[in-house]
Amino acid sequence: MNEVKKPKRPLIFYYGIVALVILAFNFLFIPYLEQLRVSEVDYGTFMQMTEEKDIGKVEIQKNQILFTNKDESKIFKTGPMEDMGLIQRLYEAKAVFSSEIIEETSPILSFILSWILPIAIFIVLGQYMSKKMMERAGGGNSMMFGMGKSNAKIYVKSTSGIKFKDVAGEDEAKESLAEIVDYLHTPSRYTEIGASMPKGLLLVGPPGTGKTMLAKAVAGEANVPFFSISGSEFVEMFVGMGASKVRDLFKQAKEKAPCIVFIDEIDTIGKKRDGNIGGNDEREQTLNQLLTEMDGFDGNTGVIILAATNRPESLDPALTRPGRFDRRIPVELPDLKGREEILRVHAKKVKTDKNIDYTAIARMASGASGAELANIINEAALSAVRNHRQTVSQSDLEESIEVVIAGYQKKNAILTDKEKMIVAYHEIGHALVAAKQTDSAPVQKITIIPRTSGALGYTMQVDEGNHYLMSKEELENKIATLTGGRAAEEVIFHSVTTGASNDIEQATKIARAMITRYGMSADFDMVAMETVTNQYLGGDTSLACSAQTQADIDKRVVEVIRIQHEKAVAILNENRKKLDELAKFLYEKETITGEEFLKILHGE
Ligand code: ADP
Ligand code: ZN
Repeated sequence: MNEVKKPKRPLIFYYGIVALVILAFNFLFIPYLEQLRVSEVDYGTFMQMTEEKDIGKVEIQKNQILFTNKDESKIFKTGPMEDMGLIQRLYEAKAVFSSEIIEETSPILSFILSWILPIAIFIVLGQYMSKKMMERAGGGNSMMFGMGKSNAKIYVKSTSGIKFKDVAGEDEAKESLAEIVDYLHTPSRYTEIGASMPKGLLLVGPPGTGKTMLAKAVAGEANVPFFSISGSEFVEMFVGMGASKVRDLFKQAKEKAPCIVFIDEIDTIGKKRDGNIGGNDEREQTLNQLLTEMDGFDGNTGVIILAATNRPESLDPALTRPGRFDRRIPVELPDLKGREEILRVHAKKVKTDKNIDYTAIARMASGASGAELANIINEAALSAVRNHRQTVSQSDLEESIEVVIAGYQKKNAILTDKEKMIVAYHEIGHALVAAKQTDSAPVQKITIIPRTSGALGYTMQVDEGNHYLMSKEELENKIATLTGGRAAEEVIFHSVTTGASNDIEQATKIARAMITRYGMSADFDMVAMETVTNQYLGGDTSLACSAQTQADIDKRVVEVIRIQHEKAVAILNENRKKLDELAKFLYEKETITGEEFLKILHGE
């Protein structure tokens, strides 16, 4: 949640500023203007001008005398003096005794000067400032101060040129969305039969899987305007702005219908409302406004709302009930075929060698999202430039997978010889245990070049094809493979290091899931002890069992891992010679490919 709370400024604050500006104007600026027209002279000049009968109007005040020359083109002032015969002399000079020499500005002009002008200046200034503020906030919106009205330009542009073909893979999602496109093209086909389109569609899936792209592609395919706003933008504005922004967004959308409204990160406003008093009022107001707006228009106005989230479970049920976001479109991580297609789409943007094996790359990048795959291609291109080559090669791509997954090579990390030896044995331990178990994926590549992510070595395992089901044996073998690194340290050095922490974490996770979620232990049968609460972001779980059962689970997790750890140690002891041989190779070369590995393993 990146809610930015701006300090709340009461309306009185702004009225205060207006009043101040007006006062300043009346007391400083206007008198100043007047002063410009009046020139001060000494009393002698006044006397002389009177003598020469060059006096037009005259006004004697308590602390000054104002007068003009005969043709009244200039105004003078001077200080008063004890001058007994002054009035007589002025009378003789045919001066006109007046009381309004300065009152020359018309009342309308003075009203404009003292009231309208300052207000106008203030508004211009205010708009300029709010525009600056918007620019800093990153949005292209503008608004008036505190008036609860945002004339927001949330609107993006008619089509961003993205079509379905630019979104690789995700065929199921595209199929669901194709219906929307068809509806936007020929709504009559649907209305004639009495069907109405869902108002809202929820795109759910992990980050970087192309949800935004898909929404843009729907607009692109249907050739309709695309309004987009991110959920967090609703809440980071001034207090009270969220709701009015929603109102505005829908007003604009209805004017431009048919169109697509896309709300990214809807979970920031659409979180379940809890009973807490004094919760986030702002967000609730915004959410309520959104619900009201969605109910407020008829399903066939042609406004389709797409929203994206990666935490669907946290959404308020009111949002997902029929009539609002009632259709849910999963946008999952791409499978092997999808990954290959995404790589190809992005590879078109860079110059590559002719014979790139994208399938191999896709296979190595298992679990990568579309955004990560796009990043892999870009990293490969950067690496080609770094090596002064004109095109991206297969090895650039392979290296960049490691960069994206494990971080850059750390050029100046210096391992002592002993450490390097331990890391080599550790990694070969993983690989050897994997290779000796029939159900494990073969090793693709091992390196012991330190990475910026902190990994000292790195074993890349690659699954052949897609795996949707894992058997108990496969999971056990996986645990054994994970313990293989530590097992090798024990077998060779009879001591252990901190290098296995990540392995331990992963092994524990698998063992735990086997018992609490997959029903793979005899004692608990098919009872779920844990539920996944956060499917797309890390997969956090929450326990749902008694404290005693928890203790029981913990014991069993230890048991599962112990058995596999012992198995790994046994495998390595049996293959001690191969272990030494492979570790020596890796120690010297720092990298070993799957082929080299197998050659030595089955070797001469
Ligand atoms: P999300 O909204 O799901 O977080 P985006 O739609 O913003 O993800 O995708 C981020 C970037 O990842 C896109 O700009 C695109 O380059 C790349 N990408 C993601 N999925 C795909 C895909 N299926 N096909 C092509 N590119 C993709
Ligand atoms: Zn390890």
